[in-house]
Amino acid sequence: MTERRVRVRFAPSPTGPLHIGGVRTALYNYLFAKKHDGDFILRIEDTDQGRFVQGAEEYIIESLKWCGILANEGIGFGDGAYAPYRQSERKEMYRHYAMQLVNDGNAYYAFDTPEELETMRMGLTASGKDPKYDAVTRNSMKNSLTLSQDEVKKKVDSGEHFVIRLKLPENETVELTDMIRGKVSFNSSQLDDKVLFKSDGMPTYHLANVVDDYLMKITHVIRGEEWLPSAPLHVLLYRYFGWEDVMPNFSHLPLLLKPEGNGKLSKRDGDKLGFPVFPLQWQDPITKEISSGYRESGYFPDAVVNLLAFLGWNPGTEQEIFSLEELTQAFSFEHIHKAGAHFNPEKAKWFNQQYLHKKTIDELVQVFTPILSGHLKNNSIEAKDSSFIEAVCLLVKDKATFVSDFWNLSSYLFISPTEYDTDVIKKRWNEKSPTFFESLNQNLKNLSPFQKTEIDQIIKQTCETLGIKTGEVMQLIRVIISGKGSGVDLLGMMELLGRDEICIRIEKGMNSISKNK
Ligand code: GLU
Repeated sequence: MTERRVRVRFAPSPTGPLHIGGVRTALYNYLFAKKHDGDFILRIEDTDQGRFVQGAEEYIIESLKWCGILANEGIGFGDGAYAPYRQSERKEMYRHYAMQLVNDGNAYYAFDTPEELETMRMGLTASGKDPKYDAVTRNSMKNSLTLSQDEVKKKVDSGEHFVIRLKLPENETVELTDMIRGKVSFNSSQLDDKVLFKSDGMPTYHLANVVDDYLMKITHVIRGEEWLPSAPLHVLLYRYFGWEDVMPNFSHLPLLLKPEGNGKLSKRDGDKLGFPVFPLQWQDPITKEISSGYRESGYFPDAVVNLLAFLGWNPGTEQEIFSLEELTQAFSFEHIHKAGAHFNPEKAKWFNQQYLHKKTIDELVQVFTPILSGHLKNNSIEAKDSSFIEAVCLLVKDKATFVSDFWNLSSYLFISPTEYDTDVIKKRWNEKSPTFFESLNQNLKNLSPFQKTEIDQIIKQTCETLGIKTGEVMQLIRVIISGKGSGVDLLGMMELLGRDEICIRIEKGMNSISKNK
C-alpha cells in the first residue's frame, strides 16, 4: 500500500470550555502533523445536542488560535476538501452507515423505553452483574433480534422511537496496537452493545467519530486516555465496515493529574486548586460563574504551549525551553509517557518567567502599557512617555514572573511615595541622616549628566565628606526615594526618575521622616 499523507484531527465536543488537557491533545496532534508534513484538522463533534453549551465552539477556536495551534482544515480555520467539519451538519450521512451495519447483521434496532432499560439495569445490579446491554441481555430485550421482522417493520413504519445498537461478538478478543501503549487487548464480553444511532436521528460519538475519521482520511487518532475503552468498539466498527486496511493508528495520551495524588485534573477543579485549568477565561452562559484562564492570568501563549508539551512528553535531553517550531522538530511518540502527568503550578510559572525574560522590551511594553493605563487612570497620574515605560520594563523584568507583576514592582516609579518603610527607618535613620540627605540633595542638584556612574560617585563622595559608610545609607536612600526597603536597581531607578524628581523626593522624604520620628 502506498504511504498515506499524515492526517490527524482534534475532535472536541462543544460541551463547555476546553480544558488544558484538551489543548495538550490538540498540541500533540498539531506537532505530529507538522513533523510529518501532514494535515491537522479541527472537527466539532456536536452530535449530543443535550450537552451543547453556548459559546463553547467559539471558545475552542479562540483558544487554539491564541496558542498558535492552527488547523489546516476545519471549523474556524477555513474549509478543506472534507467539509462540513461540524458533525451536526453531516447528520444525513450517518444514517446510511448505521443502516449498512444493520443490513449486514452487525447492528440492530432496539425499541426499549428508558423505563425498560432501567428495570433491566436494576435487575442485573441486584443479582451482582454488570448492568450491560450485551450478548446475553439483548436476548430478553425489545429489539430486532428478539422481535419478528414484521413487528420490527411495523414499529419503524409507525414512527416508534428506536435506537441502533452495535451487535458485539460474545467472548472475543479485540486487539489494537497503541503507539504509546503497544498491544492492548479487550474481551468483547467486557463491553456493551453501544448505541450508534439515536431516536433523534443523530449518530452517537462512536459511529460519527469512526465514519468521519474514515471519510476524512485520518491516519492517526491521537486522543486522551479516557477514550481507550472506546477503542475496541472503534476497531470492530472498522472491521464491520470493511475499512480495516485504512484504520488509523491509535495513541491514547496519558492523563493530566492534579498536582498531588492520582486524581485526574478535571474541568470541575476550576480555580479550586489555585491555578487555571482553562486556556482562556470562561464565563458559564447559565450560571455566569467565571473560571480563570491562562491568558487572563498573564501567561504568554508560547509559555503555555511549552509547559503543556512537557506534560506527558520529554525531548530526551535536558533542554526545557522550546518554541512551537522547535517542538515540532523534537516531538516524537517514543518520548510520550504512559503514566499520568502531574500538573505542577510552580513549574508552569517558571516557564512563564523564562519566556518573560526572553521577550524584547518592545513586546513587554506592549503588554504592560494597557495594564499601566488602568492603574494610572485610577491614580489620576499622567501617562509617562514610552521611553520611560521601556526603562521601567527593563528595570523590573528580571524580578517578575508575569507582566502583571510589573505594576507592583514599579508603582513607586510612577507615584511618589507617601509612606516609608518603618523597619528600615527604625534601624538606619540616625542623627547624621538629615545632614547626609541635605548634603546629598545639594550635590545631586548640581549633577550633570544625571547618570548611574555619576550618581554613584556623588553618593560615595557625600559619605566620605561626612565620614559615613555607604553601607549605612544605601537602603535609606532607597526608602526615601521609593518608600520601600527593596526593589529595582537603585542607581538605575535614580537615573530614570531624573534629577528634579529625585531631589523633590529626597526633600519630601526627609520632612516626612523627621516629622514622624
Ligand atoms: N468528541 C470526543 C471528545 O470530546 C473526541 C474523542 C476522540 O478524539 O476520538 O474528546
